[in-house]
This record gives sequence, structure tokens and C-alpha cells, in this order.
Amino acid sequence: MGAVHHTATRQRQGQLPLRPAGPATVRALLDWYDAERRDLPWRYGPRKKADPYRVWLSEIMLQQTTVKAVIPYYQKFVARWPTVQSLAAAPLEEVLQQWAGLGYYSRARNLKACAEAVVRDFDGRFPPTERELRGLPGIGPYTAAAIAAIAFGDKATPVDGNVERVVSRLFAVQESLPAAKGEIRSLAGTLTPARRAGDFAQAMMDLGAEICTPKKPSCLVCPVQQDCAANAQGLSEVLPVKVQKSTRPSRYGIAFLVQREDGAVLLRKRPAAGLLGGMLEVPSTLWSDEMPTKKEALRSAPVTTSWLPVPGSVVHVFTHFRLELVVYRALVPVDASFTLWAEQERCRWVERRDLHAQALPSVMKKVIAHGLGGT
Ligand code: SF4
Repeated sequence: MGAVHHTATRQRQGQLPLRPAGPATVRALLDWYDAERRDLPWRYGPRKKADPYRVWLSEIMLQQTTVKAVIPYYQKFVARWPTVQSLAAAPLEEVLQQWAGLGYYSRARNLKACAEAVVRDFDGRFPPTERELRGLPGIGPYTAAAIAAIAFGDKATPVDGNVERVVSRLFAVQESLPAAKGEIRSLAGTLTPARRAGDFAQAMMDLGAEICTPKKPSCLVCPVQQDCAANAQGLSEVLPVKVQKSTRPSRYGIAFLVQREDGAVLLRKRPAAGLLGGMLEVPSTLWSDEMPTKKEALRSAPVTTSWLPVPGSVVHVFTHFRLELVVYRALVPVDASFTLWAEQERCRWVERRDLHAQALPSVMKKVIAHGLGGT
């Protein structure tokens, strides 16, 4: 009785939610999802199991990428490769070309490797359990749980940044991230229902994207406001607490844009492993802590010719560093005999009209636009 009285007092004082997060929260959230869910091209109606191939494709594309950026890529991929078998049979180069611009290119290489593994090891059907899904290339704990819940209705709990935020607020978790990840994951698991786990996962994603946003969450229209401890304690905008990230280091380099008189541009294929692996690039010096001098840079130039620095520079921000590239430009005759340096087997000439169809990451598109600007 004493505890009940104590709880009621704290509720009146606004320190506890009227209804702690639990099964009623889940029902409220699912009702909201049935009425308000986002209409996304990879989604199936409420209470329907989705095609694992499409769920997988969308979830890989959505890693560190916005829904808006993903939609045209997703539509292009499913039109071109409507099944996992067709994607498995596609040349890697073509997959990288179609992925160009979406970033985090290891995802595209893993996509192809995963499609091949599903065809080879699982007879073209995605396995239904989190454990087996996690054994496939490019599928981590989050993606495995998302596919298991959404495509197979398994009681799995995908926890991404959105869900982390919602759960940390619902339960007023005050420990800072990333240390609080384990606690948040288990609290999220306590909410996951045995039925409609896929809809619940997508409802949490939608709530995080539309209502429980990182800044200025819309608590007044939130379907689970009365269950939310952060709202009751006035902490909605404060949680989750995050440890400050260290500032991004900068790297510098010089890119060599060689153009033939007929307009073709010299591109080089990057090594298969590592950042932007297997993608095409404008040849450049190594990217290091300091901008190389012209003399140092010319040792890495792909041809011996006269180079003209293009005014300004290209800046691109990767997850772990900021890159600044100065572009040197050279025009060479179509039939000139000159020596490409040792890496010429990785180089090719690409007609200017064909540049858009190449596997060029965004940073290299910027370099080309900067180098050719106005020509
Ligand atoms: Fe709580 Fe507000 Fe987020 Fe709803 S929007 S879960 S009330 S913090």
C-alpha cells in the first residue's frame, strides 16, 4: 500500500509516467503504426510478412543512410535485380556502378557476396533465424534482427540509433551511450511482442524518425507519451546522453585529372580491400596528414606532362576523417605517346559521356566536377 501511495505521489509530481512502458505501450504503438505508418517502397501492409530479399536489400542500404537517399537506389536495384538469384549472378562491377553515390562501398561488395552465399548455401532462400542470418556477409546483429522480425515474424529486436533513442527516453536511461547500449537492448527486448514483432520493430523505427526525433521530439502528439519516463521527468530533449566524440582528423592529397583532347578522362580502379574498395577514382597522391608539396605530389602523377593546379579544393567528409583534395589538371593529345606510371593496369580512359555510369564514389564525382568545371 505504501509503495502504491509512493508511486501515485511521484506520478502526481510528474516524475514517473502514468503508465510504465510495457504491453499497453506496445498496443498503443501498434495502433498508431496501423494508422500512421510511413509508406515506403520496401514495406508490406501491417500484419503481412515481407519478402526477405527486399527487407535485406533495404536494410543494408539504410545503414548510415537516410530513407530519402535510399529510395531511388532501392527502386533501381529491385527493377534491375528483382530476386536474390539475379543479384548473385550480376557482375560485381555492375553492382558497384549502381551503388555509386550511396557511400560505404563495402556494403555493395558484401551485398554481392551475401547474395551469392544465399544462393549457394541456402538454395536461394534467406535463412529465417537471427543466428543463421548473422553468418552471412555484411549482416550484423541489427540487420539480422530486422530481417528475422520483419520478414519472418520472429520475436527479434532490431536496435538502431532510432530505437536506442526511443527506448532510452521511454525508460529514462541516464547512463551515457555507448556504455548504456546493453541496458537499452535488453529494455527494448522486454517490449518486443511475440506477435507482430516485425510491425513493432517498424513502428519503433517510425516513431524515432517522425515523432521521437533527436532534437525537439513531438511529445504532445506521441502515441506513447503517457508511458514515457523521460517525458514525465522533463528529460525528453536531454536523453540519450552521449559521450562527446573526438573531432574528426583531416587528411590531404592531390588528385590528378588527366583529360584527353577528345574529352576522355583517366580513371583508376582502387584496390579491392579498404576504403572505397573496387570503386573507380581520379588518380591521386596518398591521403596524408599534410598537403604534399607540388614536387612531392608529382612523383605520384600518372603521366609526365605539364600540370595546372585548379583554383580551390574539394572537401569531403567521411565517417572517420575529413578529406581535402587539390586538383591538378592536364590535357593530353589522343595519340600522344607518354608513359603511364607503374599502376597503369588499373587505369582506363572513360569517355566523358560515360562518366555518369561509372562506379565513382561521391568524392570522385566532386573532384571531376571541380576539375572539369565549365569545360
Ligand atoms: Fe517520450 Fe516524447 Fe519520445 Fe514520445 S516523443 S517517446 S513522449 S520523449
